[in-house]
Amino acid sequence: MKKYITVLLALFIFAGCEKIIDEPALATLPPESITQAEVLTQTENTVPEIITELTDETTENSETEAAVEVGGDVENPTEAIDVESISLSFYEVTLQVGQSKMPLVTMFPENASDKSEIWTTSDETVASVDWLGNIKALSEGNCVVTVTSAQNTDVSANVLVTVVAGPQLTYIDGILIANKTYALPSDYAPGVNAEAEAAFYEMQADASDLGLNLYISSGYRSYDYQAGLYQRYVDRSGKAEADRYSARPGHSEHQTGLAFDLNTISDEFKDTNEGKWVAENCHKYGFIIRYPEDKESVTGYMYEPWHIRYLGVDTATAVYESGLCLEEYLGITSEYDE
Ligand SMILES: [Zn+2]
Repeated sequence: MKKYITVLLALFIFAGCEKIIDEPALATLPPESITQAEVLTQTENTVPEIITELTDETTENSETEAAVEVGGDVENPTEAIDVESISLSFYEVTLQVGQSKMPLVTMFPENASDKSEIWTTSDETVASVDWLGNIKALSEGNCVVTVTSAQNTDVSANVLVTVVAGPQLTYIDGILIANKTYALPSDYAPGVNAEAEAAFYEMQADASDLGLNLYISSGYRSYDYQAGLYQRYVDRSGKAEADRYSARPGHSEHQTGLAFDLNTISDEFKDTNEGKWVAENCHKYGFIIRYPEDKESVTGYMYEPWHIRYLGVDTATAVYESGLCLEEYLGITSEYDE
């Protein structure tokens, strides 16, 4: 009996020590994050210990985990199959500020009882991660994003995240450039430009007086929208072909809010009365046909009679009268790095 009490006492002291060991680590966190913090010991990575703050979603996962343990250990001890390891589709990633990427997760063994994931980041200011594992770059720096098995919290895997600055806005002769050479920041989201929009409506009204029907079929497009659009074109035609008529995210003039696609997005537009009138008159309202015929080698895009770009009346008229495309007029290139 005395021996039994000694063992119990030893266990009690051990448990107490473990608690004390945890305290200094937690104390290094800012006060507001202490309530939901835990120390994770990493199993297959270069970072030995990371202090992570649990989000609301992961808190829910923790509750699920507790429920699974109770059910598995007490009621159906033979049915619980532990997660033993996690593999990821990538373990290192470099992202520009604003970009996102999500690794694919595989938990082993295949028949593990519960493959729920707990996602955490070592630095919320550098990169956030949502409950699905979507990593979003927020500011320059490095951090570690960790996925832990909710069913077996001893098992986790890390992604080393490096966040670098994205492109800056490029103005040449006062003209905002978005082409294959010059990208826009992914978080540049100005919406449609009010001056360009007003100029379009003025042009539309004058065209209407002549019996012509002009309308905008595509105006401002966000970075994320363009990313989805471009990916669909790549899936459909392959990358090389898609690059002839669709801009990669960040490279679309539609993200500037200064470009409009008019009427039918089709070569046939150039032969309509509307298309002919726009080609001869849009500069009077401050627009140019941005991707003219026979300029694909310079602009990087096929002829697009429907795509107009606002430059203001003076510059648009000068470009129109020069007979040059915008790249030639400014002496710049339009080519992707790779
Ligand atoms: Zn367009």
